[in-house]
Amino acid sequence: MMKKGLLIVNTGNSKGKTTAAFGQALRSAGQGLKVCIIQFIKGHDQTGEAKAVRAHLAENIELHITGSGFTWQQDQQRVQEAADQGWQLARAKISSDAYDMIVLDEFTYLLSYQLIDENQALDFIKNRPPRLHIVITGRNAGPGLIEAADLVTEMREIKHHYRQGVKAQKGIEF
Ligand code: ATP
Ligand code: MG
Repeated sequence: MMKKGLLIVNTGNSKGKTTAAFGQALRSAGQGLKVCIIQFIKGHDQTGEAKAVRAHLAENIELHITGSGFTWQQDQQRVQEAADQGWQLARAKISSDAYDMIVLDEFTYLLSYQLIDENQALDFIKNRPPRLHIVITGRNAGPGLIEAADLVTEMREIKHHYRQGVKAQKGIEF
């Protein structure tokens, strides 16, 4: 069997992209791999996953939250600045060769909203240290990202409690 750093993409419209990425990070950390998670777009440090990492997994998992807390409609400039800073951080972490796995949570939106140059970003990711696993999440993974990936999983909605009017709950959605 070949040992190879994988590019893993969790996409699709339904639930499970971020939680699966954190599950993957948990598994890796438990095996002694060094993990770095960078969260884009959504700036929120009180999610269950952020609290759990800080409280129990900080030795194995480094977490950076780079979102602006604003939406594209609210403040495009701040979203752009946060994306630039987040991507700069991600490139430094990827180049460092200090990690076995890097999770880029909600990264697809940097590409789909053209906050960063897609060709340059994909070239950078393809030329990463060979052992490095990268996990990317977010809706609407485009053809270039899918082409570059080794594993692409689509979370497809069969049922979602949202349709019954159930709002986001602590411990389930955040
Ligand atoms: P999770 O973080 O729970 O794994 P996710 O990363 O796949 O979810 P995101 O698009 O990042 O999903 O959205 C975060 C939250 O939005 C999800 O926890 C969630 O249940 C809700 N959500 C996901 N899909 C839908 C949908 N089709 N309709 C309404 N809300 C949704
Ligand atoms: Mg998500």
